Amino acid sequence: MSETIEHVKCLIIGSGPAGYTAAIYAARANMAPVLYQGTQPGGQLTTTNEVENFPGYPDGVTGPEMMMQLQAQAQRFETDVRDGWVTKVDFSGPVHKVWVNGTKEVHCDTVIISTGATAKYLGLESEQKYLKLGGGVSACAVCDGFFYRNQEVVIVGAGDSACEEAHYLSKLCKKVTMLVRRDEFRASKIMEARVRNTENIEILFNTNTDEVLGDGQVVTGVRTKNNITGALTEIPATGFFVAIGHKPNTDIFKDYLDLDETGYIINVPGTSRTNVEGVFVSGDAADHVYRQAVTAAGTGCMAALDAERYLAAKEAVVHA
Ligand code: NDP
Repeated sequence: MSETIEHVKCLIIGSGPAGYTAAIYAARANMAPVLYQGTQPGGQLTTTNEVENFPGYPDGVTGPEMMMQLQAQAQRFETDVRDGWVTKVDFSGPVHKVWVNGTKEVHCDTVIISTGATAKYLGLESEQKYLKLGGGVSACAVCDGFFYRNQEVVIVGAGDSACEEAHYLSKLCKKVTMLVRRDEFRASKIMEARVRNTENIEILFNTNTDEVLGDGQVVTGVRTKNNITGALTEIPATGFFVAIGHKPNTDIFKDYLDLDETGYIINVPGTSRTNVEGVFVSGDAADHVYRQAVTAAGTGCMAALDAERYLAAKEAVVHA
């Protein structure tokens, strides 16, 4: 074995709630986990201002603060947390090979994938500006809807997520305007019926977002464009929710792991196991339904327990 190749018992890829929870459990099980943080240390939560729905924080906590605490907890048990981006894997043989930053090669007994998913945005400059300012643009109604109680919001998208989030927002907000770019929904009929039958949801078909309007600090409205007539309309709103889908960060695994049509890793139901022995998945990389910090943390725990049991069973065979 070349000197540049490192061998680790448990490699964790990703540093969101799933990855750090897996690290806490793996470290406490003497698996000496090494965790690579990826390009966005802390994951999606670092783009969230206030987290009020993670149990144990009665006064709420900011996303970055929560991630720093999770990292500190993982390091308290001697998780080796490293900067680095996993660029390539080879899960074809008995040893799982992982390359970091395109150069460093690591051989792993177990791998826990916690690479998460990335919310899609429209890409408008004004949308990105208020997203970065934390001034009223969000891709998670369950996370941020509460801040817009009794206010007027706009949501873009026409899939199941958009319908679910519009319905969720309708229970908190005075009015929800839904922007649908075609003349029909993509969502299932039952979800579509739910939004159509909700009094304070207005649906605008054939409508695109032209601009997110604001005062330089916070969102004050949305300018829409009817893509048939070209008519521009300004809708007053304090919140702009984007629900046009997520992209799981799983491209580097596609040659080895079973993925669904969107790219989510398919796990053995009720477990964190993938189709490759010794490779486990946790968090949003395998979850298009719940996508919450607390569910990601829960599956991170499952992945570490599954990995530990897998190693224990292998060692029992060696010693038999
Ligand atoms: P989808 O890909 O199903 O829908 C994305 C929606 O966003 C589409 O309506 C699409 O429009 C619209 N869209 C995409 N880009 C733009 C854009 N640039 N401007 C305006 N609109 C845009 O994603 P979802 O997140 O809704 O769902 C993902 C998967 O998860 C689906 O399989 C869904 O069924 C599932 N899911 C299930 C739930 C449940 O069962 N409770 C809840 C949530 C999701 P268009 O239709 O024109 O392409």
